[in-house]
Amino acid sequence: MAFDIDMIKKVYANMAERVDKAREVVGKPLTLSEKILYAHLWDGNPTKAFVRGKDYVDFAPDRIALQDATAQMALLQFMQAGKAKVAVPTTTHCDHLIQAKQGAVPDLKRANETSNEVFDFLASVSKKYGLGFWKPGAGIIHQVVLENYAFPGGMMIGTDSHTVNAGGLGMVAIGVGGADAVDVMAGMAWELKFPKLIGVKLTGSLNGWTSAKDVILKVAGILTVKGGTGAIVEYFGPGAKNLSCTGKGTICNMGAEIGATTSTFGYDDSMERYLRATDRNDIADEANKIREYLTGDDEVYASPEQYFDQVIEINLDTLGPHLNGPFTPDLATEVGELGEKARKNDWPLKVDWGLIGSCTNSSYEDLTRAASIAKQAVDKNIKAKSDFGINPGSEQIRFTAERDGVLKIFEDLNATIFTNACGPCIGQWDRSDRKGDEKNTIVHSFNRNFSKRADGNPNTHAFVGSPEMVAAIAISGRLDFDPMNDTLLNEDGQEIKLDEPKGLELPPLGFDVKESGYVAPVEDGSKVDVSVNPNSERLQLLEPFTPIGNKITGAKLLIKAFGKCTTDHISMAGPWLRFRGHLDNISNNMLIGAVNAFGKKTNFVKNQLTGEYGGVPDVARDYKANGIYSIVVGDHNYGEGSSREHAAMEPRHLGVAAVLVKSFARIHETNLKKQGMLGLTFANESDYDLIQEDDTINFLDLDSFAPDKPLTLEFVHADGSKDVIVTNHTYNQAQIDWYNEGSALNLIKKENNA
Ligand code: SF4
Repeated sequence: MAFDIDMIKKVYANMAERVDKAREVVGKPLTLSEKILYAHLWDGNPTKAFVRGKDYVDFAPDRIALQDATAQMALLQFMQAGKAKVAVPTTTHCDHLIQAKQGAVPDLKRANETSNEVFDFLASVSKKYGLGFWKPGAGIIHQVVLENYAFPGGMMIGTDSHTVNAGGLGMVAIGVGGADAVDVMAGMAWELKFPKLIGVKLTGSLNGWTSAKDVILKVAGILTVKGGTGAIVEYFGPGAKNLSCTGKGTICNMGAEIGATTSTFGYDDSMERYLRATDRNDIADEANKIREYLTGDDEVYASPEQYFDQVIEINLDTLGPHLNGPFTPDLATEVGELGEKARKNDWPLKVDWGLIGSCTNSSYEDLTRAASIAKQAVDKNIKAKSDFGINPGSEQIRFTAERDGVLKIFEDLNATIFTNACGPCIGQWDRSDRKGDEKNTIVHSFNRNFSKRADGNPNTHAFVGSPEMVAAIAISGRLDFDPMNDTLLNEDGQEIKLDEPKGLELPPLGFDVKESGYVAPVEDGSKVDVSVNPNSERLQLLEPFTPIGNKITGAKLLIKAFGKCTTDHISMAGPWLRFRGHLDNISNNMLIGAVNAFGKKTNFVKNQLTGEYGGVPDVARDYKANGIYSIVVGDHNYGEGSSREHAAMEPRHLGVAAVLVKSFARIHETNLKKQGMLGLTFANESDYDLIQEDDTINFLDLDSFAPDKPLTLEFVHADGSKDVIVTNHTYNQAQIDWYNEGSALNLIKKENNA
């Protein structure tokens, strides 16, 4: 048994008391999101009402999930904490590093050859520190979590933005950076700004060609890619109860595409059915005992405008199927209108590929609905005009679909069944039919369709739809095909109209799997060796950072970043993903995307020791080799974007002592603090203009570093003149202790050994 029923019983035992207390302190009925949040406060029973969108609150998540790309640095860091075991149930999932090319068997074999050192490392660390491990081929993190670990009313974090998928089973599940996961694995609280709440009231029932995917495609069109930022989206109403649990998962999954903190649904019969079908009767029985605590209060759903910050209403009876795209998931178009829009915008009408699956849409219901369309093509002698690719979400779903003849239907249409892994959804796709940058169109049932996402080609126009709509469009080979009104010509020259899709919510014979790919944690991992080849280019054990100390003099300006500087500018993704487990190698991308204010070029800064210009990492390495700290200066909202900790670890590794900016994106600022370096803001923003290319920096009062006390820096210019600049910071005493110890992990380790 993979899930931990005792942990869940403990959560439920506290739930009633904490929720009742929360209702008292908040002074009004509660949404489901509030119930889960207040029931998971780090300090136990709620004692005050938090201000949404403002207060930072410490939480105690129940579970953690890591995927193979992000797990590497998270686990390397965790190893620094000096703990024998993870403090909270955690699983590692190998799904991102498997390239789709020829089909499941050869692709998995190749991945096991090319990434074996990463997989072996993740397996051995998991074994040593008590994490559950899901081997390559076992499935995609979020599908595996939904099938095995998600439970109504729970809170989990995961090092992947689509962790939110578990909202389909009534969780508050949130994607985080590795540093946050490490904190919780090491037994610390997890901090989150108390979210705002968006309510989506669903009425009616899905019918015809419309699916759960169309709900979120519609919501994305309404809210756009930024509309959910800082908010939990809570779905409710009679329409919500009419959706399957996995359909709810699809909707929550794509909450990431509107920037939402997460999305969730109240516990209902569909969740109970799914729990029982996935062999979790114990959880369903326990959840039934506290049912009213696992959904929002009746008063909230009766008058949602009073309790949510924003309310949207969607009638499922009249909702039509959508295809969103290209290049952004919020460009929503009803299927019947897409042809005209495509012609107007010169989007290629010919569809080259239809891709079905991913963590977003590979439930039994999804596959059977799509198969019901594929079967019509097979039975009625219609040749599919596009290539088909299927990536099942887990071995359990693949095995069950194969047993029930569902995969055979796709194979009869010449579909390639890829590994149970992310594959084309994350650009792990060796697309044989196209090389180069030709303009082309694909349709898929994934979640993201940004430029280059699937195949690296900026001219691939990707459209997102439900699996059944993807099947229909791929069979027709045309983006302007409307299966509700148009017909197709079969090989006998007959006009055929496709019938509406039909699927099964759950497998009538139950789910089954022979080799799930799960490796349970061992009781005592102390004897397990974690070996990393010192010559590896992909993995490197971390050394604890040495404290920077309270005397910084003679530091050099490394770069004065001009304009936007996101975590992508600081630590680029793409080909660099390969080095995510190797701090020294990935540091070669440090700030290479940032524009230098002097000369307005990227990755071109002055080395003050030589007078020559060079790449940012090279110049930083030269300062470091000469025992000189460097300083990075930046503009507004420095470090916005993802929460990846590499953007803070790389500068720390290359000898940057401080980052001084007009303002920070908060998560990045916290990440800098965790790595034991200084994140400072100009007290007077216009002082940014005083900083010159050849500046040497002295910290005048770092020896009295204290909460709420500004720090003063002296900038000595090339001509000997000086500017004294006052800087602010937001360090509390605990964070100053991180700085003094060299990093938060150093402090945890010290406390552990104490
Ligand atoms: Fe992320 Fe796609 Fe993998 Fe899901 S299938 S975890 S969205 S890469």
